[in-house]
Amino acid sequence: MRYDVCSKCGRRLYEGDLKYIVSMHIVADHDGVIDKDISDDEMQRLIAELEISDKDLIERDVHQELAFILCKRCKDVFVRDPFVTKKSSIDKGGGWKGELH
Ligand SMILES: [Zn+2]
Repeated sequence: MRYDVCSKCGRRLYEGDLKYIVSMHIVADHDGVIDKDISDDEMQRLIAELEISDKDLIERDVHQELAFILCKRCKDVFVRDPFVTKKSSIDKGGGWKGELH
């Protein structure tokens, strides 16, 4: 019988069982500011370093998509505290107050 596995607890989730997909879209949020104190030599070194770096690693630093399957119990725990801060509850009305670039 076909089944999925909860990414958190390892519980088998058979066809017809309640399960959830947690999808994450992670994007670098560079504010466009570049350190003006960086020397030309240092800039050239960084550019050369980028040119020899693994393209996939660089792309993952900028954009990454992840997906996990969770059982109901693990989904409920995840929603209460997705970053495992151990706080009693998350700020449901607030969240991130930053600015998109
Ligand atoms: Zn689970």
